[in-house]
Amino acid sequence: MTNIAERLNHIRLRMARAAEKSGRTTEDIQLIAVSKGHETKDVVSAIIAGQKIFGENRVQEAQKKFLPLKPIYTDLELHLIGALQTNKCDDAVALFDVIHTLDRPKLAEALAKSMRKIERTPKIFIEVNIGNEPQKAGLEPSALPEFIDYCRTKCGLDIEGLMCIPPHNNETARWFQLLHTLAERHNLKHLSMGMSGDFEQAIACGATCVRIGTAIFGKRVEKNREN
Ligand SMILES: *Cc1c(COP(=O)(O)O)cnc(C)c1O
Repeated sequence: MTNIAERLNHIRLRMARAAEKSGRTTEDIQLIAVSKGHETKDVVSAIIAGQKIFGENRVQEAQKKFLPLKPIYTDLELHLIGALQTNKCDDAVALFDVIHTLDRPKLAEALAKSMRKIERTPKIFIEVNIGNEPQKAGLEPSALPEFIDYCRTKCGLDIEGLMCIPPHNNETARWFQLLHTLAERHNLKHLSMGMSGDFEQAIACGATCVRIGTAIFGKRVEKNREN
């Protein structure tokens, strides 16, 4: 039977192979273990197996799971990978080390305000709706130059990377490549892309963080709860 520790090792091995194949080093690629929909005991299993970086998509779920763990495991790093509402910014800024889902001016303003208030500065990535899909969150690619400028000059936000969830088709690598190009154009060093089904392709296209849930923790029960 495979457990979380074995699955984690297997993912790390596959990441190392993918990195090597494209002439990169594994140290440059972070594995974010996406624990949304899974219980605290599964997170603890992953921590015991050496995992320190976790991703969650809802602020409240992350608080419930990680606030009790943080005093015990002091070197955890938490990433918010789901949509953020402006009224949750204080909580998000207080808990997370990286926020991957900035996608609109109002949220940039709210995040900047929370960061001043809480005196904490999580790294901020912009989520790009790389395939321009109407049902998906994220900023459309053509709006990126103006938005980055707005974040920097009007809000004083330091943008460190781009994130995307590409369209479900067989051109995934093309979308990853496009995000890479956009990041280079704006001098952004982080690229958050690649999930359980496509992280090797993402690594080949320059991903610096891959977000992997199912392949580590197994299937999750999807909840339809608001952030
Ligand atoms: C759930 C989720 C993941 C992880 O997806 P898996 O297919 O389970 O690896 C990655 N990124 C985001 C934004 C997610 O919401």
